[in-house]
Amino acid sequence: MSTLVRLHHLSVPLLRRAAPKVFDGRHLPALHSHTSSRPPDLTFEDPSAFSVKSFRELMRALGVFQLCSFPVLVNNCGKLLSATRSILGKQGFSLIMRPSIYAQFVAGESEGEIAVAMEKMRSLGLRTMLAVPIEEDLGESTGECRYDENLEAMLQCVRLSHTKACSDPKMQLKITALLSPELCVKITSNLPEHPFDLAQLVKAMDGEPVHFPGLTEEENAHFHCGLHRLNKVGEASISKVRVLVDAEYTYMNPALSLVTMAMMKKFNQKEPWVWNTYQCYLKESRSLLLDAISQSVKHSFCLGVKLVRGAYMDKERKLAKGEGRPDPIHQSWEDTNASYNGSMDIMLNLISQNPQRYQIIVATHNEESVRHAISQMVKLRIDKHAGSVCFGQLLGMCDHVSLTLAQHGYSVYKSVPYGSVDDTLPYLVRRAQENRTVLQGIRKERDLLRQELWRRLNEGLRLRRQVV
Ligand SMILES: Cc1cc2nc3c(=O)[nH]c(=O)nc-3n(C[C@H](O)[C@H](O)[C@H](O)COP(=O)(O)OP(=O)(O)OC[C@H]3O[C@@H](n4cnc5c(N)ncnc54)[C@H](O)[C@@H]3O)c2cc1C
Repeated sequence: MSTLVRLHHLSVPLLRRAAPKVFDGRHLPALHSHTSSRPPDLTFEDPSAFSVKSFRELMRALGVFQLCSFPVLVNNCGKLLSATRSILGKQGFSLIMRPSIYAQFVAGESEGEIAVAMEKMRSLGLRTMLAVPIEEDLGESTGECRYDENLEAMLQCVRLSHTKACSDPKMQLKITALLSPELCVKITSNLPEHPFDLAQLVKAMDGEPVHFPGLTEEENAHFHCGLHRLNKVGEASISKVRVLVDAEYTYMNPALSLVTMAMMKKFNQKEPWVWNTYQCYLKESRSLLLDAISQSVKHSFCLGVKLVRGAYMDKERKLAKGEGRPDPIHQSWEDTNASYNGSMDIMLNLISQNPQRYQIIVATHNEESVRHAISQMVKLRIDKHAGSVCFGQLLGMCDHVSLTLAQHGYSVYKSVPYGSVDDTLPYLVRRAQENRTVLQGIRKERDLLRQELWRRLNEGLRLRRQVV
């Protein structure tokens, strides 16, 4: 399944969600200075983080999280949403989705709506990392034309990201939107026999004909087209927007990393403009990260790292079991946590020595990992304002973490998808299933939202009594 965001002909107003008091992020109180030698006491238990949200936003978040607390709804959301869509029709479905689930997790559809969402984010002290919700997997490949259309959507994403509403903007890129997943799988399985040279890949990106061994003529031609498309994204974004390449499934990740490294070699000579993602639920994640670091030294490029736990655990395990391979995922959540914090330590140590060459986004909703990052930053004297370490959460999820971090002066990005209800539906379903554990564990965020709601109701009553 492939979705292309067609922004130009869609303009339904959506984001009428101004907070009651506009809170300019640039003027957020500096709760702790970066020179402090002690990490701030971040319990993420202060409901006042939500004081910047409007009443409507509080109610919506509470309603959506209440629904997400039922495992049966989250596990079957794909089927439930398609059934509701076929019963209600496109318009009826849109009517119930837009003010609820869609508004919680998606920025909007038209350029105007996205601009409003970014401005709103800025006023809360948050930054935007736009994500075009194109979802491709094996068997979903489309023709060259479709990939060219996807390229236009990516270039539009670069343009939308590069606005005054966000300093140091970032966007996410899925390589499989521009290069067929089938070819990525083939390259991955060929790599042990035919390792590709990064310099050759850069030549092909620049339009020089290169014959890549192990590929047919047709595959070679498609690979060249895909590399051209990636080159165009790189050229459009350099010095403007940092491009964070997503990690996907283990059966194609080595090919994705290979072309990402080629982009890094070409575009990251002075600063990390292209970043790669490392999934710490993988047993091999530490060695993959160490290999990327040594490649960055060998080819003298700067390295940007998006550190995640990983989103495809169930499918990876099922595939490995079906194929009789060892499970690529760590045995337990605790092991994944140790792997996450270990890889983070490697990066933070490098950043403390060379913040120009290495950068990281700690992309997690896990409070413990966020606290670990902050205490390491203090210990290693990494300046939270220097931009070499930032944090990332998905739009609409764990705002108590994002807002608290922003109020303490950390750089926080929300991963923000955009598009029509129909275009973003597959994205929402996949994200809900991938983040099941996070969605079902948002009890704390729900409690904080309730506390903030009560505080406002009580304050309203008190003011009313005073007036009477
Ligand atoms: C900005 C951003 C960008 C992202 N980009 C990507 C991307 O490119 N690729 C990608 O794959 N994901 C990506 N993700 C999704 C990310 O992987 C999920 O949000 C994440 O897995 C949820 O983990 P957590 O650290 O937020 O929370 P936690 O709730 O602390 O961790 C849950 C995660 O731990 C792991 N886990 C859970 N149980 C077990 C177990 N029994 N054994 C081993 N491991 C276990 C799984 O990875 C699970 O998702 C991104 C997330 C964000 C916020």
